[in-house]
Amino acid sequence: MRSFTYVSAPDVPAALAAVADGDAKFLGGGTNLVDLMREGIEQPATVVDVSRLPLTAVEELPGGAVRIGALVRNSRLAAHPVIRARYPVLAHAVLHGASAQLRNMATVGGNLMQRTRCLYFYDDAAPCNKRTPGSGCGALDGFARSTAVLGVSDHCIATHPSDMAVALAMLDAVVEVESTRGTRRIPIGDFHRTPGDTPHVETALAPDELITAVELPPAPVAANSRYRKVRDRASYAFALVSVAAALRVEDGVITEARVALGGVATKPWRAAEAERLLVGQPATDDTFRRAAEAELAPAITREANAFKVGLAVRTTVATLRQLATGGGAA
Ligand SMILES: Cc1cc2nc3c(=O)[nH]c(=O)nc-3n(C[C@H](O)[C@H](O)[C@H](O)COP(=O)(O)OP(=O)(O)OC[C@H]3O[C@@H](n4cnc5c(N)ncnc54)[C@H](O)[C@@H]3O)c2cc1C
Ligand code: SF4
Repeated sequence: MRSFTYVSAPDVPAALAAVADGDAKFLGGGTNLVDLMREGIEQPATVVDVSRLPLTAVEELPGGAVRIGALVRNSRLAAHPVIRARYPVLAHAVLHGASAQLRNMATVGGNLMQRTRCLYFYDDAAPCNKRTPGSGCGALDGFARSTAVLGVSDHCIATHPSDMAVALAMLDAVVEVESTRGTRRIPIGDFHRTPGDTPHVETALAPDELITAVELPPAPVAANSRYRKVRDRASYAFALVSVAAALRVEDGVITEARVALGGVATKPWRAAEAERLLVGQPATDDTFRRAAEAELAPAITREANAFKVGLAVRTTVATLRQLATGGGAA
């Protein structure tokens, strides 16, 4: 690891001042950044430790929204009674990520900003447009089993790794960020970017902006929601495919549906086409399958990852079926 300057920020203004002049990174739980620095993939001149900032509350807001401080640890978020009761999909998603030890360290802000687990991104001998813009992409003609089939480009096919962010995409979360220029709010759908021809630009966040909170709008449908993750091992593995979904069914007909996918796309993927096809239809496997197949229809596959299309359809059907029979409680 190269030498760097470490700054422990006592408050938000100090943190913002410390990153204002360039080559600096915030440190939340450190579970991704420190790994990347050890591998030489991230080499910030300054690391600004924000883990002591007072951004650790989960607050119910007037009107029914919930505000989650950016420094809330993943394990605390998943155990919070308000999250478990009103947004069980978020608690499920967080508990399906990493390990208990990692969740005890990882923060909400850091989880949103974690970087891809693409094998070639981690191998500094391989070409990677995300790591070194313009160098090429090792995955395109390489081992592509874990890569994305939606939102891909000729420049990058890496998946977004976060489980939590898939649930946040389904919940229409809003990311609150602060810099020396002030505060702004970014809808989660605009926060992560598809790669296009600039895969190294992964989010809408400027380098000097600090995530201070994530806000969950009121979503009564989310009381019946769930996260299902398919992976190579039962725990401690990233998603091959995951589904976050919420459903309301009245007299056998779907009146409200939300679906987001993980493991198959270059960003947490809101399945808008599937949602459109679900509402107003009978809550049957046939409806669920047709909606999921339509969402996956634009998939661009390679031999090694083509299985993800069928797996995503089946996982979506299974998740919606479970919700249709009231299986979404925490
Ligand atoms: C072995 C292993 C297995 C894992 N498995 C999973 C899994 O199955 N599913 C899953 O979702 N994740 C998994 N993870 C990833 C883990 O969830 C992330 O490492 C973690 O969420 C990152 O949070 P952190 O607070 O430690 O971030 P850090 O490592 O501190 O930071 C990560 C990035 O976020 C930036 N950052 C941190 N806080 C802020 C902020 N407030 N504002 C702006 N930028 C900020 C940092 O500068 C850095 O770029 C795994 C990690 C490991 C090591
Ligand atoms: S898929 Fe993206 S992250 Fe992976 S090697 Fe290609 S450019 Fe890099």
